[in-house]
Amino acid sequence: MLGMVQGAEARMKGNEAETVKVVVRCRPMNEQETANGYKRVVDMDVDRGVVEISNVKGAETDPKKTFTFDAVYDWNSKQLELYDETFRPLVDSVLNGFNGTIFAYGQTGTGKTYTMEGIRDDPEQRGVIPNSFEHIFNHIARSSNQQYLIRSSYLEIYQEEIRDLLGKDQKKRLELKERPDTGVYVKDLQQFVCKSVNEIQHVMTVGNQNRAVGSTNMNVHSSRSHAIFIITIECSDVDEKGRGHIRVGKLNLVDLAGSERQSKTGTVGDRLKEATKINLSLSALGNVISALVDGKSTHIPYRDSKLTRLLQDSLGGNSKTIMVANIGPASYNYDETITTLRYANRAKNIKNKPKINEDPKDAILREYQQELARLKAQLTQRGGKKKKKKKQAEGDVDEAEEEEESSVDMETILQQEKDLEDERNRIQNDQHMIEEEKQQYLMDMKNKEAEIVAAKEAQEKLMGRIKTMESKLLCGGKNIIDHTNEQQRALEQRTQELLEQKRREREMLQLLEKEEESSCEIASTFSSLQQEVEAKTRKLKKLFAKLQSVKQEMGDLHEEFCRDRVDLQHTQDVLTRELKLKALIIENFISPEEKRKILSRAYFDEDEDVWKLRPVVRQTGGTLKRPVSSASRRPTSEYAKMQASLDHNPRYKGENIMVVELDPAVRTTRDWEGPVVAPRVAAALEAALMPIDDDLSIDASLATLNRSQAVRSTRKGKTKGKFKSGIRPPSQVPDSSLYPKSRGLVPK
Ligand code: ADP
Ligand code: MG
Repeated sequence: MLGMVQGAEARMKGNEAETVKVVVRCRPMNEQETANGYKRVVDMDVDRGVVEISNVKGAETDPKKTFTFDAVYDWNSKQLELYDETFRPLVDSVLNGFNGTIFAYGQTGTGKTYTMEGIRDDPEQRGVIPNSFEHIFNHIARSSNQQYLIRSSYLEIYQEEIRDLLGKDQKKRLELKERPDTGVYVKDLQQFVCKSVNEIQHVMTVGNQNRAVGSTNMNVHSSRSHAIFIITIECSDVDEKGRGHIRVGKLNLVDLAGSERQSKTGTVGDRLKEATKINLSLSALGNVISALVDGKSTHIPYRDSKLTRLLQDSLGGNSKTIMVANIGPASYNYDETITTLRYANRAKNIKNKPKINEDPKDAILREYQQELARLKAQLTQRGGKKKKKKKQAEGDVDEAEEEEESSVDMETILQQEKDLEDERNRIQNDQHMIEEEKQQYLMDMKNKEAEIVAAKEAQEKLMGRIKTMESKLLCGGKNIIDHTNEQQRALEQRTQELLEQKRREREMLQLLEKEEESSCEIASTFSSLQQEVEAKTRKLKKLFAKLQSVKQEMGDLHEEFCRDRVDLQHTQDVLTRELKLKALIIENFISPEEKRKILSRAYFDEDEDVWKLRPVVRQTGGTLKRPVSSASRRPTSEYAKMQASLDHNPRYKGENIMVVELDPAVRTTRDWEGPVVAPRVAAALEAALMPIDDDLSIDASLATLNRSQAVRSTRKGKTKGKFKSGIRPPSQVPDSSLYPKSRGLVPK
């Protein structure tokens, strides 16, 4: 395998152009399709890399549409087969410092996500992304004298907005920025350093969970958004001359939105904008591909969408690129399948110029190494002060020594601690010292102890930092001599060789077919007329069939073109209408002066893809002066001045300020009225509160005899309380009344 990769690399070292590799994968019929009895219209010749589609629209006799690709995978293809044959070489290149991109393109439900992610719990059905994790970390484990740093990020583009799937704030939208040295990048995109397969898998799981969050229908959402998983691999090794080099490879794994056309007809306003935006990135991708392959375009419209800007390098730039076109086998998918294959067919001709990214300025690995060296130097300085500096002379200090050294440092500190303790004991037990002196000694000792503890902590912290940093840098070579490992490597190498052979065979076959079609046969001589006639008839038939299929293709393309045109025209109509409305509003409701001002301030921000307003700038340069009012603003006559000082006539006041009495405002509130009690309730209450007459026994006969006893309450046991509430006891009823009065409140 290594030999092959190196061979391929040698080919590429000369900065040679290579085309985008395009493979087609057809998924099996699903249960529903089988149950509904749909016909399969796709035929695949895996050996020749040919896809044939039966024309369901035309007559039975119509020729099949054929497309040739770098490789085709039918419904029986296995995930691992795809990986080993097609993706492994690309990931190997990325490990060697190339950029690589894998796109999955196709209609929704044809297996894009299956190809990229697959079913993760089933090792057989894992897709490219998990397989590449395994591949990368295996490669590192087997490497020797190399250091690796792996980082991963995960983002999504939905309706032209970029969301970081690993970010804390999922509502935040990220921006694309451009730097002349490193190109386009996503500002503030999180990157996670991954030390193992498990860690990177975890990153992916978290991202996938975030992808589902906030989408009401995951299927609809995922079919309309592009997900990009990015793995950055930095590798440092030492060349023959002993100089360190860093290579950086970036692997983009892209699960594109479904390629089915979003219907724009009949939609207006926001819905139209949404429909236009959903596939904007995808149609921009198509336009970029067309512009790249037609050979005449000088302008490639990368800037038309976020996706094409972000993946600019993958199409016509410094990257090795594979596009997987996914199709469905059933007849009802015919149109989309043909469209996908045409799209893929065009992409075949894109030429890239991949090169190894050696020693880029922004390599994080270099920063890490420098930081590590600095920390280690600090550590040596700390511990090494009292020690012989023999290691400094050796230059490259290896890790074992380093470890030993740091452990020695700890020992010294421990020894110091112990000495201190002994000293303390000695002082405390010393009978000859006076108490004050003793205290002084102990105090000093305490300070010293604190110093040691601080030093210890600093040391530990430093060592901790070094450990974490070192753990992030991955090194292989530990089990390189492992026997099984060796065997496995040999086996893999053989497999790769076999696969390469297969690929070459396919290439040869494709070349042969091309040759056959050309004129070489016509030029050959024939022994008899009959033979010549036969051969030419055969040739004629072949060419005629070809002519027919080309004609048909032309018709199809014209039809598709018309459809696109109608669509675009519709979009244009709606947009024009909107524009007219806006213009009308501006003409009629905004003053020309204001309009001119805004026009002069407006500019287009290319980075953020929006119109913006410049802040208002003052022509005068400095701050404008406020108009001031002064006493002698107007020429004033002496007479007026005198009148003003007399304070009679407001006419002669400095300012025409009227003094007006304050008018009381009209009252808008109302007094509060208690709630109205329903008549029935009121009546009931009244009845309940009525004095109970039969409670009183009145002895009228006694009134004349003993007036003081005229009224006697017969209520038992309650009299006491009644007094308190201000009712006089019966004995105090005034004598003057002939008849008893009711027990109401009696004024004192
Ligand atoms: P897409 O992402 O293109 O919308 P999916 O990857 O979700 O499509 O695939 C749709 C369904 O088809 C899934 O249930 C998936 O498991 C199944 N499928 C797709 N391709 C294959 C394949 N090659 N073999 C088996 N099942 C497949
Ligand atoms: Mg999907």
